[in-house]
Amino acid sequence: HHGLAALKLNELNERQHEAVTAPPQNMLVLAGAGSGKTKVLISRIGYLIRAHHVSPYSIMAVTFTNKAATEMRHRLEAVMGHGTVGSQFSNHGMWIGTFHGLAHRFLRTHFREAKLPESFQVIDSDDQHRLIRRLLKSLNLDEKRYPAKQIMWYINGKKDEGLRPKHIETYDPNEQVMVKVYEAYQQACDRAGLVDFAEILLRSHEVLATHPDVLSHYRKRFRHVLVDEFQDTNSIQYAWIQLISGGHPGGVADELDPSYVMIVGDDDQSIYGWRGARVENIHNFQKDFADVEIIRLEQNYRSTANILKAANAVISNNSDRLGKDLWTEDKEGDPIAVYSSFNEIEESRFVVGNIKKWQEEGGSLSDAAILYRNNAQSRVLEEALLQAGLKYRIYGGLRFFERQEIKDALSYLRILANRDDDAAFERVINTPARGIGDKTLQTIRDAARSQSITMWQASGRLINENRLSARASGALQKFISLVDQLEQDVSELPLHEQADQAIQASGLKAMYQAEKGEKGQTRVENLEELVTACKQYEPDENMEEMPILSAFLSHASLESGESQADDYEEAVQLMTLHSAKGLEFPLVFMVGVEEGMFPSQQSADAPERLEEERRLAYVGMTRARQRLFITYAEVRRMYGQEHRHRPSRFIAEIPEECLYHVKLTTSVSQPAYRSSSSSYGSSTGYGSGSSYSSQPKAATNHVKFTGTGFSLGQRVMHAKFGEGTVLNCEGDGEHARIQVNFDQFGAKWLVTTYAKLTAV
Ligand code: ATP
Ligand code: MG
Repeated sequence: HHGLAALKLNELNERQHEAVTAPPQNMLVLAGAGSGKTKVLISRIGYLIRAHHVSPYSIMAVTFTNKAATEMRHRLEAVMGHGTVGSQFSNHGMWIGTFHGLAHRFLRTHFREAKLPESFQVIDSDDQHRLIRRLLKSLNLDEKRYPAKQIMWYINGKKDEGLRPKHIETYDPNEQVMVKVYEAYQQACDRAGLVDFAEILLRSHEVLATHPDVLSHYRKRFRHVLVDEFQDTNSIQYAWIQLISGGHPGGVADELDPSYVMIVGDDDQSIYGWRGARVENIHNFQKDFADVEIIRLEQNYRSTANILKAANAVISNNSDRLGKDLWTEDKEGDPIAVYSSFNEIEESRFVVGNIKKWQEEGGSLSDAAILYRNNAQSRVLEEALLQAGLKYRIYGGLRFFERQEIKDALSYLRILANRDDDAAFERVINTPARGIGDKTLQTIRDAARSQSITMWQASGRLINENRLSARASGALQKFISLVDQLEQDVSELPLHEQADQAIQASGLKAMYQAEKGEKGQTRVENLEELVTACKQYEPDENMEEMPILSAFLSHASLESGESQADDYEEAVQLMTLHSAKGLEFPLVFMVGVEEGMFPSQQSADAPERLEEERRLAYVGMTRARQRLFITYAEVRRMYGQEHRHRPSRFIAEIPEECLYHVKLTTSVSQPAYRSSSSSYGSSTGYGSGSSYSSQPKAATNHVKFTGTGFSLGQRVMHAKFGEGTVLNCEGDGEHARIQVNFDQFGAKWLVTTYAKLTAV
């Protein structure tokens, strides 16, 4: 019964049907979002097996994420019967996976040809970074001049282009140094049997290119290669496909029959240009592969007419498009709700309020996705969701308080609060690197264990008893002084200044700033966002008695201890716009849609980058099936600073008739979503009596001068900072904070109860 009927070909439209049932040939399916590209690709595999009796063994399917690969496997098994597709690891069935996953599998089989030890290890970017730093030291290169992260970025970029050091010719002395490090790095990896991500692809490409017997084996085996999200392939991935399919004119084994390649993609959804992806590969494919049949799909099955019209209008502002018309038979649907919030906290409450409403009206939590431009934006949303008791899952990432840089920073705060916190001690003692090696650390651990004291205490003793080398002892003493000094400097400051100073004085921020590339920038942003979190933090009633730092640390560990919702649990999906590619949800929120956030500041002035941001907006909007909310904040505290942004140009690019501007009839945020469709504009439903009625939080941030006992402009005296003038006050009671402009030290925020200010 798993015959052709199971493929349900009658559910396909004419063009889709044509693509799925075409005779074996090279094919390019070029089509906009939600037009069924992925569906066609999966059906095509089924059709090849069922109608053309192609063995699954001779099919390779490339997806963009591991998750997509798993899903494709499940969908194929559902159509064709269990066991037909082959397990992920068996060599008999189909190969389905990401480029990296498949190339890795290839290397495991051909480790000898690849000149790798059988037990070769794959290293991640952290390992890679550490290795490069060690090399810089042994090569006597100044890390300030040649930051390890920058070199790592360089090496990976070259590998993505398929280039080894010997291929790089340069007269730029700076680049010559980088090439030298690349060479040393590669030698070190080869000696130790280590393979980084970019190396997986490059190395397997080299094996294929230099071993005609291996190449011929795989060419004979894989008669059908299918690639989803082709617009985001990079050079080496493209070359890999060419080689394995025989599509390379003048390749080593041209006498072999070529395989058939089907690629599906959408140039309007190319969003990884910054990481080396080349949308030109779509053009190249038509030149490099023989007799390519181009099929365009134009009917969208995902979104309502309104959402589609809006997305089409936004992307039409880009130049150099291959050009696609996209239409739908779907109903018009609700207008896109645009909401202007006072600040980011209110924005997150608005989102959560509407998700609750959706849930109350029978919708599933898993239907809802919140999409943002930057990783750090998740923090405020996570807090609002936790507060509302809604389960959530961060797709393709860690929750805010679980991120490496946040844990680093919190560990500094923990050691300030408690020197005996061994876990924090271990985490920060050599982060950033300050010359305390594993050996010293082991000595400290041993001493602590044998004398049943903490590592901090053991460190002091080891120094006093001269039991460390002079170098180790000096480095350790420096660390101890750093922590002691830091505590002295910050103990009287308000929480967010404590955090800010700890991040700076410890060298953490500088360390992550030196990481070039997107990851380093994200980490710095997250650190700054931690400062904002401290500023906004207000202790629960049961923690009010504690010092605010301890209270905050408990809050942070409670939040990170709350584990991600399990896979089977219903949960709101949070993710960056980038990781939403290929997915769809009935209810979508795009948040932080402001100039300077999205499009980002850096891209606003560079036309090419701006167009990539616009494609990202297109990807975001086209994830929505039924309802789309777009929100922006008038004031946003982000990365520790307050910003005022205008609404994003992408909102202005949406035709007005597709929009509904959510206006609140009271000063209180109300959900804009209502169950009966297209009744957004009505005056009912947004007034009082709604399920969502708390006061905007921001008000408490602006309570003036209650509870501090001081008034604006008053002259005051502080034991350490001397005389100053009161600029501002916030909150009251134990957590009242006061901003004083000190004559000698400038403006500082102080916790009033600790500051012991006296009137002058
Ligand atoms: P993206 O560009 O976002 O990756 P896509 O082109 O891959 O989108 P799919 O995810 O394959 O599109 O399909 C979008 C939605 O439309 C899916 O829910 C799919 O099941 C549905 N769909 C596709 N074709 C049809 C059809 N002929 N009839 C009914 N539903 C369809
Ligand atoms: Mg798709």
